[in-house]
Amino acid sequence: MPTNLMEIIRTKIQQSGPISLEEYMRLALMHPEYGYYMTKDPFGAGGDFITAPEMTQAFGELIGLWCIDIWQSIGRPANFSLVEIGPGRGTLMHDALRAARVAPEFLNAANLYLVEPSLLLRKRQNELLGAYNPTWIEKLEQLPNLPTITIANEVFDALPIKQFVRLRQGWMERRVGLSPTGSLVFVLQTAPDCPSFDMPEESVVEVCPGAGEFASAIARPIVKNRGAALIIDYGDDEVYGETLQAISHHRAAHPLTAPGVADLTAHVNFEPLAIAMRKIGCRIHGTKNMGDWLMEVGIRERTEQLVMRADETQSRSLVTALQRLTDQSSASAMGKLFKVMAVTDRATPTPSGFHL
Ligand code: SAH
Repeated sequence: MPTNLMEIIRTKIQQSGPISLEEYMRLALMHPEYGYYMTKDPFGAGGDFITAPEMTQAFGELIGLWCIDIWQSIGRPANFSLVEIGPGRGTLMHDALRAARVAPEFLNAANLYLVEPSLLLRKRQNELLGAYNPTWIEKLEQLPNLPTITIANEVFDALPIKQFVRLRQGWMERRVGLSPTGSLVFVLQTAPDCPSFDMPEESVVEVCPGAGEFASAIARPIVKNRGAALIIDYGDDEVYGETLQAISHHRAAHPLTAPGVADLTAHVNFEPLAIAMRKIGCRIHGTKNMGDWLMEVGIRERTEQLVMRADETQSRSLVTALQRLTDQSSASAMGKLFKVMAVTDRATPTPSGFHL
């Protein structure tokens, strides 16, 4: 069944030729009317995928305590921005703010900002976070001149990428075109922005053109007014090869068959983010395997506390989540696949979770 978005993309290609994967991904995820994140609440067991904060309340709680720690180490400012980028259902921040009741001064000082393009998800976030009077913004540039603590969990993986393929004659860009029957297919074309380095034939390289600027926008208020950011995503310091994936109802799908229906993500290459943020004057901590980071900030102890007060079903799900999030037994296990990177201004000491 062709979707409306499929028709829009087809027409575009018919009119002006194949489009970059970056443009395809932007349309598939963010088209104002038919984009995946604009029309769907993809989270949870009944949705397309499940994220760490949806698995256990301990995840958001520990991030809340991490934020308090940062706030204390930057001198307990009486007024600061607490920012979450791409909050999904709002679960992480909801758990974080509940845990932060141990520090009422922190809660009083916090101005909550949520960066969320999707109106549907803003509504969901309002259900959980409305009591904290959040301000929704489109862009980080809209933040006020205040110390800033920013959280981004599974956001960078949704930023659109380009792919390049090394052939015998040189690099080509893998773009999205039309087959004779009108379905979307990958095509190879020469492009001006192909990689300048060499790799073996058939290598695929992914580049996220927007990532550096996005990271810089996170870093700027931190350098200017103090603060920190915590970036969590799957990927590594360097990522090679093809990692673009489409997920629908917890299963892999083909990225071109149902734009707007399946989620599209790619592994995050943290190195360009670190470079962009260092350039502005930040200190980078990590990356660190999420399993190690969570253990260091106390996920085992917090889970044990929660289990003592939980019924049997809740206990089982808390323990399963602990195991999944900290599992590092294979490259695809969450505790190893996911990385945590923190960014601070230069005066702020090493944040918790990055000492070991
Ligand atoms: N952090 C949440 C949701 C992750 S899904 C969780 O852990 O459960 C990705 C989120 O990022 C969604 O809320 C999506 O709407 C948002 N998003 C995607 N692209 C974005 C962009 N360019 N800027 C800000 N948010 C974005």
